[in-house]
This record gives sequence, structure tokens and C-alpha cells, in this order.
Amino acid sequence: MTDQAPIIVWFRDDLRLSDHPALHAAARSGAPVLCLYLLDEHSKQIKAPQARPMGGATRWWLAQSLRALSARIDAIGGTLVLRQGAAAKVIPALAREIDASHVYWNEIAQAPHLAIADDVTEALADLDIGTESFAGDLLTHPNTIRMKEGRGLRVFTPFFKRILAMGGPAKPVPAPKKLIAAPKVKSDKLDDWKLEPSKPDWAGGLRESWTPGEVAAHRLLKAFLKNIQGYAADRDRPDRDGTSRLSPHLRFGEISPRQIWHAAQFTADEHPKLQSDIGKFLSELGWRDFCRHLLFDIPDLATRNLQESFDDFPWKTDRKALKAWQRGLTGYPIVDAGMRELWHTGVMHNRVRMVVASFLVKHLLIDWRHGEAWFWDTLVDADNGSNPANWQWVAGSGADAAPYFRVFNPILQGEKFDPDGDYVRRWVPELNNLSAKLVHQPWTATPMELKEAGIKLGSDYPMPIIDHKEGRDRALKAYKTIRSS
Ligand code: FAD
Repeated sequence: MTDQAPIIVWFRDDLRLSDHPALHAAARSGAPVLCLYLLDEHSKQIKAPQARPMGGATRWWLAQSLRALSARIDAIGGTLVLRQGAAAKVIPALAREIDASHVYWNEIAQAPHLAIADDVTEALADLDIGTESFAGDLLTHPNTIRMKEGRGLRVFTPFFKRILAMGGPAKPVPAPKKLIAAPKVKSDKLDDWKLEPSKPDWAGGLRESWTPGEVAAHRLLKAFLKNIQGYAADRDRPDRDGTSRLSPHLRFGEISPRQIWHAAQFTADEHPKLQSDIGKFLSELGWRDFCRHLLFDIPDLATRNLQESFDDFPWKTDRKALKAWQRGLTGYPIVDAGMRELWHTGVMHNRVRMVVASFLVKHLLIDWRHGEAWFWDTLVDADNGSNPANWQWVAGSGADAAPYFRVFNPILQGEKFDPDGDYVRRWVPELNNLSAKLVHQPWTATPMELKEAGIKLGSDYPMPIIDHKEGRDRALKAYKTIRSS
């Protein structure tokens, strides 16, 4: 028993018990702890253009992740309370309801979330209730890596060098073994939030592909580190299981970047021959921070070209082509495989993300914001930083971006990174019987070869919606217009 007033721990994109600094501090205080998850679609900052509601795939993931978190909290004697509404209204009301002394949370270093947290702090201060926020969603806080004039770095390599020079992130903190339960209060029913699709239920592929939650995240990390040898090369091969698949778990904070960092470093210390693969993996994790640091400085990263010259870019409006791209019916097998993988599993291999993004922006001349929005709705790892930053990187309008004149050739990319065509055949089964030579360019097959493969181009599988050379030349011409403007 304790006569201490309860502490509320406000969970957001940190749906885990271990390395959760706010929960750790609350549990250590000896006070009763109430764990809260708030579905906030009401705060004015959430409605602002710089924030946006979650997409369909992330809403599905959130429901599964909350179930997993709730079971973990129950198991150590606590309860997860679900509420809905604007944070600055709901949290103070709940704090009064249970006579809480404090509310703790982990910071999300993104402008709308910081503004919401400020409003919550102010409303609680009026009630004499204390607040504390803790860092934990990044390797380093954006305030710690600045240039002399105070701006964040816009080039990845020096950025990552700074992280390494700092000796990496702080050590993770353990999960509490036990929580003292706070007074019982009403909780929303998760099903009433309708996060999961029902009519139609399009989430079958997501259910097949994923087990959301902290336990599954750590299991994945362990298995990945055991097999990390070859990552530096295999990470570019969509036909192999060469990457960690941790991105949606990171997106929801089921595992923290510093837990991953320290586990990987431990493996590198134990197995020095894995140093270079692990170094590459850590630098990828560094890209996640880089994108978030950009977002910290540029809250409208998803809507504004970082390079202003792109504001005059002659984008085309072509609904038919956009739809063909979204549905995986462009006639370019590697592009179509990626788009179908995305629709089925909620993720797409990184190499293929670059290829499909380049195809949309360069071959089809469709504004990167349309692609970003589609990814936002369909990715289970849709991230406020990584998604727009990578789209702008591919488009050429971003920070440290690929030059616009570098146009990925979808045939060569397929041949290089999916040499036997296994990835394409997995997601575009119409092309199953084509040889490795033809599977990335079926339109070059002879009528006999097509017949033998049992495929009619134009009806079973589309002809390319644009010729590669024509698309490339058109993209370069468009690029010249902004370069000379
Ligand atoms: P691993 O290779 O195992 O990498 C480990 C972790 O490093 C990833 O989980 C991720 O957190 C981080 N990471 C790796 N590559 C990148 C990168 N290029 N940028 C930022 N972080 C990276 N990643 C997202 O998490 N959310 C997104 O919304 C997202 N949108 C993207 C859009 C485009 C157009 C492109 C080209 C890339 C995008 N990425 C995004 C980055 C990357 O494709 C995914 O992080 C990666 O495919 C996830 O697979 P993994 O966890 O197996 O990666």
C-alpha cells in the first residue's frame, strides 16, 4: 500500500514497457501508476496542416499494438486506460478524477506534438499538477546536433559522424517489474475506436505478415542480429530476407532506437567480423534520426519542397497513370511488384521504394506529394520524418537529395537487384513462367515466348504505360525548365 498520489503515464508513439523512461521514472517513484493512451484526433495542432490523421494501415497496426501493450501492462499489475479527445482537455480531467500528482510522458520531438504537450503542461499547471517529459524516441535529440548558426545539419554523412562522435545514444532503461495500480476508472473500448477495417476487411495481408507488439519486435531484432552477416550487400536485394523489418515496430515505439543500437553494438563487440555489416545497419538507423531532425526544423516537410526551385516544377496531372501506379499495373514488373507488396503487407523493400518513387516522379512526372500521400495511407511504418524526407530525396527537392537528372532505369534496377526475378514472380504471378531474362521486360518477349509462358500482354499484364527512354527524356526536359528558371 502507498499513500502517494498516482502518476499518469501518457503513452503515444512509445508502446512498450522497456526503455520507456517516463514509465520507468513513474514506477520507481513508488506511486500508483495509471497508463493512458489517448486517441487524439481533436487537438487543434492535429488538425493543422503540419500534422495529419493516421493512414489506414497504421490505424490497423495501432489497434494490434495497443492490445499487446495492454496485456503487458496487466501482467505487471497495471491497467491501460483508453480515452479519446483533445489532450489538453482529457488529460487534466483524468488527472482530477484520480487526484494525480503528476503526468509523465516521453517527448515526441515534432512541432505539433511539442505544442500539444505545452498545452497539456499549461492546463495541468493551472490545477497544480506537475509534469515531466523524457527523451527516448531518437538516438539524439535534434537540439544536440546543430550548426554554428543554430540550424540542423542537411547532409547525412557529417550528421552521422556527429552521432558516432557522441559515442552513440544513452543506455536503455529496463521495464518495471511491477506497477502499483491506480484507482480504477472508465476506459473506452478499443473496438469502438474502429481502427480496423471491417467492410471491406482489407487487412488480411497485414495479419498474415506481421505480429505487432514489443515482444515480437525484440524477437525480430534477436533473429536479425543472429543472421546479420551480409547485411551491407543483402539490404539492397528485395528477393532476399536481408533486412530487419523493424520499421513499423520503431514507428510505434514498440522498440526504441537506442535498444537496437546497443544490442547491435553488443553483437559487434562479441563478433568483430560483423563490424562492417553492423556499422551499415547503424547508419540506416541514423537515417531515421536524420529524417526526424529535418522534420524538427521543417514541420511542413510533407508539403513543402525543401529546394524552392521545385515550386515551379511542371508536374503533370494524370489520374489514370497515378491509379495504374497505385495498383501495380504500370507494365514495369519491378514497380508493379513493389506496389503490390505494399498493398498486401503494408511495407515495401527500401530499394524498391526508391525505384517506384523515382518512376512516379520522373517517368510519370507526378508530384512527389501524391506518392507520399499514398505511402502514408498504405505503409504500416508510415513516418512523419522518413516518408516525406525520402520522397523529397528521390524527387531531388530535398536535403542531401539524389540529383534530379539521375533517373532510375526500372529494367536495370530489376535485373541488378532481383537477378533471378524471384521478387517479381512473388508479387506479379502473371509473369511466373517467364525466364529471368524476360521477367523484367516482358514486352521484349517474342509471341512464341509469351505463348509458352501462358501470358497475353495487354490483357493478362499491361504493356508499359510509358516507354523508358521517352519518360527519361521528358523528365530531363522538365528538370531543365527549373534549372534555368
Ligand atoms: P533495415 O534495413 O533493417 O533498417 C533498419 C532501420 O533503419 C529501419 O527500420 C528504419 O527505421 C531505418 N531506415 C532504413 N533506411 C532508412 C531510410 N532510407 N530513411 C529513414 N530510415 C531508414 N521508412 C520508414 O520507417 N517509414 C516511412 O514512412 C518510409 N518511407 C519511405 C519512402 C520512400 C520513398 C523511401 C525510398 C524510403 C522510405 N523509408 C521509410 C525508408 C526505408 O525504406 C524503410 O525504413 C525500410 O525499408 C524499412 O525496412 P527495415 O526495417 O527492414 O530496414
